[in-house]
Amino acid sequence: MSELTKLTLTDAMSGLESKSFSSRELTQAFVDAIEASNDTLNAYVVKTPEKALGMADASDERRAAGKAGRLDGAPLGIKDLYCTKGVRTTACSNILDEFTPTYESTVTQNLWDAGAVMLGKLNMDEFAMGSSNETSRFGPPSNPWRRDGSNATLTSGGSSGGSATAVAADMCLAATASDTGGSIRQPAAFTGTVGIKPTYGRASRYGMVAFASSLDQAGPITKNVADAALLSEIMCSHDPKDSTSLSVETPNWLEDVSKGVKGMRIGVPKEYRVDGMPQEIEDLWAQGIKWLQEMGAEIVDVSLPHTKYALPAYYIVAPAEASSNLARYDGMRYGARVQGDNLTSTYEGTRASGFGEEVQRRLLIGTYVLSSGYYDAYYIRAQKVRTRILQDFETVFEDVDALLTPTCPSAAFAYGEKTGDPVQMYLNDIFTVTANLAGLPGISVPAAIDAQGLPLGLQVIGKALDEATCFRVAGAIEEAAGFVAKPSKWW
Ligand code: GLN
Repeated sequence: MSELTKLTLTDAMSGLESKSFSSRELTQAFVDAIEASNDTLNAYVVKTPEKALGMADASDERRAAGKAGRLDGAPLGIKDLYCTKGVRTTACSNILDEFTPTYESTVTQNLWDAGAVMLGKLNMDEFAMGSSNETSRFGPPSNPWRRDGSNATLTSGGSSGGSATAVAADMCLAATASDTGGSIRQPAAFTGTVGIKPTYGRASRYGMVAFASSLDQAGPITKNVADAALLSEIMCSHDPKDSTSLSVETPNWLEDVSKGVKGMRIGVPKEYRVDGMPQEIEDLWAQGIKWLQEMGAEIVDVSLPHTKYALPAYYIVAPAEASSNLARYDGMRYGARVQGDNLTSTYEGTRASGFGEEVQRRLLIGTYVLSSGYYDAYYIRAQKVRTRILQDFETVFEDVDALLTPTCPSAAFAYGEKTGDPVQMYLNDIFTVTANLAGLPGISVPAAIDAQGLPLGLQVIGKALDEATCFRVAGAIEEAAGFVAKPSKWW
C-alpha cells in the first residue's frame, strides 16, 4: 500500500482512472504515511484524515457514476495560507489563534470542484515571510534530505517549507504553495521537487492570506513537471472576486511538457553570476545550458542590468504592502486578542504578542518606508526600480523565449545557519524575487545532486502569460537530467 504514496500525481490519476486502486485506498495510504512521519517532519500543522476519507469515498462514488473530474480522488496538501471553510487557517501566525474561515479560497475551491481530496494544512513561515520556515508558530518542518554522513536537520526552504517537505517525503501527491519572492521555487529547489510561480494574476488571490498583494501568486509544488502543469491548470482561473485576476483562458499546459526546446532561444543573464556562489551551482548552470543546446535550443548571453537592485527593491515593496495588509490584525475581528486598559493598548498588546519577530521587523520597515518624508525616498524609488527591472526583462524577451538561471545561490542550509542575520537570509532570494517584481512566470526543476548529496534546482523564467514555454524548457531539463533521486528514509 505504501507504494501508492510514491506515485506522481499524473500516474495516480491514471491508476484511479483505470481503477487499479480506489481513492479511499490511495487516501488511506497517505493518511497512514502522515501519521507515521509527521511527528518527525512537521509538514502538516492541521491534519484532516476524516475529511479526507469522506472526500475520497465521495470521489469513488462519482467515478463509479462516470462523473469524475480531472483531479478526482487525488489527495493533496494545502499551504496554511489558503482559507479552507471549517478548517483552521492561521498562516502559521499566533495572531490568527484558532481562526477557522467560513469561506473557501478560489484556488482550493477549484481543486475540490475538480474532485481533489484534502489531507490537511501545511506548515509555512508566518504570513509567508521567510526563506527557511523558521518563523512558523508551529516550529519548522524538517527537510527529508540530509547531507551525506550528517544528522544535521536542514531547512526545506520557505515560506512553503511544509508543502515542499510533504511532497518530497511522499506525504501527499502534490501541494499548493504561494510565492511572493521565491516561496514556491526555493523550497522546491531545496527538496528535489518542482515548483512554478505562474504569471501574476493567473490564479485568484481570493481567500489567500495576504502578504504583499502586488507580488503574491499561487502555484503548486509537485514531484515532476507534468504534475506541475496539471495542478497549475486547475489552480489558475479568472475570478471576479479578485480584481487583479486576469481574464484569460488557462491553456492546456500538460501538453507542453513534452514538446521540447528545438529552435528556442534561451537567454543566460550574466548578472545572475554572483560573488560567492558555490562552484557546483555554476557547474549546474553550465550543464543546463549544455543540455538545452544538445536538445536544439540556441543559447544567448543577455544582460539584465538592474538585477542588483532587485533585492533591495523587493525588501521595500514587500514590507510596505505587508504593513498595510497586516493592519487588519487588531484583535477586534480575527483570532487572538490581548485585552488592554483601552482600545490603543489592546491593539498594541495584541500585535506585540501575536506577531513573531520577523513579521514585526517587516512591519516596522514597511511602516517606515511609507511614512511621510520617507515615502518618496524609499517606496516611490523602489517602485521606479521595479519598473526598470520589468523593462530589462521586456528588452531581453524581444530576443529570447525564456531565461535559464540557478534557482538559489546555495543548496538547503541547516537550521540556525542564517537565523541570526536577516540580511543573509534575504540574500537567498536573489534569483527569485526578480520574477515577482516583474510579474513573470518562473519554474524550478531539480537538476542535480551536489557533492554533499543535496538536490539543486535550475530556474526557467518566461514571458508574461507564457507558462507554456516554462513547462517546455523545464520538461526538457527534467528529461536530460533524469533526476530520480529521493531522500533516503531516516524519519
Ligand atoms: N523569502 C522571501 C521573503 O521572505 C519570499 C517569501 C515568499 O515568497 N512568500 O519575503
